[in-house]
Amino acid sequence: MNSNTHKVLSQSVLIPLMTLVGGLLVVSFAQDNPEPARPAAESQEAHPELQKIRDGINRVLEENARLKEENAQLRKENQQLRRLLAEKAAAGKASNQVTPPADGNQSTAASPGSESPMTYWLSGSNGQRHNSRCRYFKISEGRLCGPEEGKPCKLCGG
Ligand SMILES: [Zn+2]
Repeated sequence: MNSNTHKVLSQSVLIPLMTLVGGLLVVSFAQDNPEPARPAAESQEAHPELQKIRDGINRVLEENARLKEENAQLRKENQQLRRLLAEKAAAGKASNQVTPPADGNQSTAASPGSESPMTYWLSGSNGQRHNSRCRYFKISEGRLCGPEEGKPCKLCGG
């Protein structure tokens, strides 16, 4: 008997409690529902903007990759051009070193011939050479000669 009344009591208390808890759960669920819906709507509005930004970033990344490729290619071309220039400069130096001595020899070879005037007297009788200050200059029989013809006169030195 005792146990019976206990059961009824607990049942009569439990049922409203369950409904109360259930009701609270429903209310809290209903209240929670509209809140996550709002950010979802916002993200849907922001999506096209984000897409634009993402597209822009992708475009910049693509351009960057293309520029890197171009830069590498230009660097290769630059190295090739530098090598060609170095080769040309080396070839130019070699040809320049060959040419200058020829010019120097011509100017020095031309001068001695012009400085041999016939200002000496070669006497025909003994083949002696006299300079213009000698007393035998143009006295004896002979002809005008250069500074190295005949034998030098013992008096004037030729
Ligand atoms: Zn003399």
